[in-house]
Amino acid sequence: MAHCTKCQTEWTFKDKQRTVKNLDGSAKCPYCGEKQYISLKTKRQGSMLSMIIILAIFIPVFFDIPLMVHILIGAASIIAVLILQVAIIQLSGKEEFPE
Ligand SMILES: [Zn+2]
Repeated sequence: MAHCTKCQTEWTFKDKQRTVKNLDGSAKCPYCGEKQYISLKTKRQGSMLSMIIILAIFIPVFFDIPLMVHILIGAASIIAVLILQVAIIQLSGKEEFPE
């Protein structure tokens, strides 16, 4: 669960969604106004999750499955990953960069 690093209030799914909508992965805490960032660990986990979409779209190519099913698998994985990426968000008090 994501907690604000300043006021320790737990963010709702909607609050966390706002960090994803911002390009720099930040949003003001709706409870205390402190700027919070998506933690580096979350960003790494998020890109791992994106791999699922690629796998879900490419793996069925090697199997003889109907196109409609293939499209459905792809669409379902995109939706699942988008939801998961928000669900796993952890907050950081400052912007973190990879070394
Ligand atoms: Zn706060």
